[in-house]
Amino acid sequence: MSFDVIVVGEGIAGLAAARDCARAGLRTGTIEQLMFGGLVTSINELVDWPGEGGEPRSGSDLAAELITEAADAGVESLGGSATGLEPADGGRLRVHADAGTYEARCVIVASGAARRPLGVPGEDAYAERGLSHCADCDGPLVKGADVIVVGGGDSALQEAAVLAHYARTVHLVHRGTAFRARPSVKALFDQAFAGRADALQVHWQSTVSALEGDDGIEAVVLAGPSGPVRLAARAVYPCVGLVPNSAWTGLATDAGGAILTDGRLATSLPGVFAVGAVRAGHGGRLVDAVADAALAARSVKESLQC
Ligand SMILES: Cc1cc2nc3c(=O)[nH]c(=O)nc-3n(C[C@H](O)[C@H](O)[C@H](O)COP(=O)(O)OP(=O)(O)OC[C@H]3O[C@@H](n4cnc5c(N)ncnc54)[C@H](O)[C@@H]3O)c2cc1C
Repeated sequence: MSFDVIVVGEGIAGLAAARDCARAGLRTGTIEQLMFGGLVTSINELVDWPGEGGEPRSGSDLAAELITEAADAGVESLGGSATGLEPADGGRLRVHADAGTYEARCVIVASGAARRPLGVPGEDAYAERGLSHCADCDGPLVKGADVIVVGGGDSALQEAAVLAHYARTVHLVHRGTAFRARPSVKALFDQAFAGRADALQVHWQSTVSALEGDDGIEAVVLAGPSGPVRLAARAVYPCVGLVPNSAWTGLATDAGGAILTDGRLATSLPGVFAVGAVRAGHGGRLVDAVADAALAARSVKESLQC
């Protein structure tokens, strides 16, 4: 199948880019390996993205709105996982996916990022058995229990704020000596624990060194400034950063695997652009992802002269 533009990834950046390309009259296809929406589908209350009348908005609502706009604009959703990208004859590009091979005049890489694992031995065995990536989804299951959130950035404080409504104690484990969250996220966090200071324990300069439990997580061992500390806990929420989903592209990246782009969001392969969390220099917020999408769609139009 042949397209003007293929967008890989139906996260917020990819959906917005595909919609904008299709609205410009370009035949646009998207490839998505899981479900549309990407990282924010698990977030009930987005920060820095208010809904109508300033009401909080959920990530899945935003994603649903964008996929509807993309479909209305004529975007063709192809599904599958993209596995490779290469130049083809006549200045075109070929995208290999497990569901087929597609050709396009331009490609927008919007494959985002995956959550970084804790790096603790035996971690995989606790997936879905206490290790969680969605406080909004399973908060009610830890009602009255002690839980651990690992990290000190936006997503750690966002998850902790959600858990403040359910857990008896939220242990926030951070390797640094200060939080790195944006003021809007810090405000949400402070509000969640206002009047419940006893429900929060921050463990500075600490990391998780072991997970314990036979039938799911029962305890966590921390390595900290005063030696190992063992905490009873029912669930652990790792928020220790993201790893760009770029390996499949073969494009030039920085040392952390984020795709290098120029001021037009062009990558090392002519005709290929990158947007959102997969690229080096992404601002980190949804507004940045959507701004990237608009710029990449403009760059695609310029390069196709339409
Ligand atoms: C826990 C958390 C909470 C956040 N909350 C907020 C918030 O409240 N407000 C805010 O402004 N920002 C928030 N962010 C940041 C925001 O999520 C990102 O800026 C934005 O989602 C990036 O979107 P993206 O489309 O670039 O990437 P992603 O959301 O990662 O989407 C990438 C998509 O590509 C797909 N994909 C990956 N590889 C392939 C492949 N090979 N083939 C096909 N498909 C592929 C993935 O399945 C995914 O659907 C949050 C981030 C996290 C982690």
